[in-house]
Amino acid sequence: MPVVDSVLVVAAHPDDEILGCGGTMTRLAREGYEVRIAILAEGISSRYAHREDADPQQLQHLHARAQQAADKIGAKELVLCKLPDNRLDTMPLLDVVKAVEELVARFRPETIYTHHPGDLNVDHGVVHRAVLTATRPVSGQCVREVYAFEVPSSTEWAFQAATTPRPAIFPTLAPPKHCARSPHVGAALWVCRRWKHSN
Ligand SMILES: [Zn+2]
Repeated sequence: MPVVDSVLVVAAHPDDEILGCGGTMTRLAREGYEVRIAILAEGISSRYAHREDADPQQLQHLHARAQQAADKIGAKELVLCKLPDNRLDTMPLLDVVKAVEELVARFRPETIYTHHPGDLNVDHGVVHRAVLTATRPVSGQCVREVYAFEVPSSTEWAFQAATTPRPAIFPTLAPPKHCARSPHVGAALWVCRRWKHSN
């Protein structure tokens, strides 16, 4: 039985995963990869002065829409970790790292897509740091490749955007069924880590 390559997308908020690599996920799912999505923060609760003031119905609706989006792109599973929205920097980084480590241990992905480290949004930066820590290249590590995606109105809004190296990968995506044009280019990706090992 052939081994199916496993891909995990680790995003901070509902919609980041689609904005960042929705096209790439769709292509990978169609090519037979097992694509799973983990969204660490709950979303929208940062719009309220206190997290507990967030409207539970709105949160429920947001999470239902995230599940619909995951189904649409052919993801095998969506995990909502429901950590505090836009307040990940108030948690010990270790706790976020452990959340990612649990996902890695559970799904054993070979490839992870996550946020660019220089984004303006604080949660995006925390998630990137947690992923790199959780996937450090030690013995037994299953993750071989880590890529960073851009999120419009966050990545390019950061002060250091002008000095950030240009992305290394521009994945091609299949054209829509009704369109005879050649494949178009998907969202840009940065290579964060690539390594090979024999275990
Ligand atoms: Zn976000």
